[in-house]
Amino acid sequence: MPEPPIYLDHHATTPCDPRVVEAMLPYFSTIFGNPASLTHEHGRRASHAVEDARIAIARFFGTQPNEIYFTAGATESNNIALNSLAPGDHLITSAIEHKSVLAPARRLEKRGVELTILNPDREGFIDPAKLREALRPNTKLVSIEAANGEIGTIQPIAEFAALCRERGVLYHSDITQAAGKIAVNLAEVDLASWSAHKVYGPKGIGGLYVRRGVRVEPLTVGGGQEKGIRSGTVNAPGTIGMASALRIRRDEMAEEAQRLTALRNELWERVTTEIAGTSVNGPRELRLPGNLNVSFDRVEADSLIVAMRRFSLSSGSACSSGERGPSPVLMAIGVSEPAAIGSIRFGLGKSNTEEHMDMLIGDLKRIVAKLREISAA
Ligand code: PMP
Repeated sequence: MPEPPIYLDHHATTPCDPRVVEAMLPYFSTIFGNPASLTHEHGRRASHAVEDARIAIARFFGTQPNEIYFTAGATESNNIALNSLAPGDHLITSAIEHKSVLAPARRLEKRGVELTILNPDREGFIDPAKLREALRPNTKLVSIEAANGEIGTIQPIAEFAALCRERGVLYHSDITQAAGKIAVNLAEVDLASWSAHKVYGPKGIGGLYVRRGVRVEPLTVGGGQEKGIRSGTVNAPGTIGMASALRIRRDEMAEEAQRLTALRNELWERVTTEIAGTSVNGPRELRLPGNLNVSFDRVEADSLIVAMRRFSLSSGSACSSGERGPSPVLMAIGVSEPAAIGSIRFGLGKSNTEEHMDMLIGDLKRIVAKLREISAA
């Protein structure tokens, strides 16, 4: 049996932590009640567990439990967050948001919402001064992510939030790539979206933070669960898994961030010094710990990824990976098209070690040279 590949795509998803799986297990078969079935013990036990999970998650984010809503993940949360906009309202977002913000934003535009898409600078930062200039009297919502999943840029969300608050505009942040990896301050944010599976929790469960007093429009209507914001039977095992994953992050995040930053910096150093014709996309500081994005001159990332058999790699967002063409994030920060097509995103996580970096550098050196030889022939 060949060794399984080494996983280096932790921005797309992460393995579920065995401690999380263990915490979830009873809620599939023993404590299986519908948390909305409050007429009997089965339902009440499930409901108590879901509410305890909500308290733990609220504590993690420094919010109130009644400000946390369970959803199927960040895609759904982002869509709900934008869903209250009506024709004539103005929405501001950025060009490097995830598709689950940009696609609903464009659909809203078709329906008569005014849309401004802010461009980032060369490192992926959105300038708060540009946001200030873009605000209009009819601006209803600003949606700018906390951190980027391709180039790792960590945005000044507290500044965006303060600016919006000053002008009476709601501020939503997609915190999916930041939550549980770096400290996220929701103190002034009105709405925030995340998924559990990016931080060693289960897939198919996420959260939406809605500050008390802020109104959102549900995407779907039905049984009225989650105070009508997200109808449908609550994924009880998922909520327990998400709470467990975030509790573990609370205890382990700081140390892991330090370790991954060091590992990433070493990879950065070695790729750019040991392999000619390479450049890093995204910032040196204010970058997600395990993120590195590298352009390889005269190489197509698709061919490189296929040839790097010992590793699971990707060139960008898994949600756009069915599409051809250069990454919109890299194009937005001004990377040339050939450089964007030659870019790989490395997503380091809990399982990665120094030894993996040695193997990675060795394979990259050999395979990049070989691909360049072929393309020059
Ligand atoms: N936002 C960001 C920044 C993401 O990275 C992702 C996942 N790639 C999502 C939203 C969507 O998350 P999910 O697929 O869990 O709905």
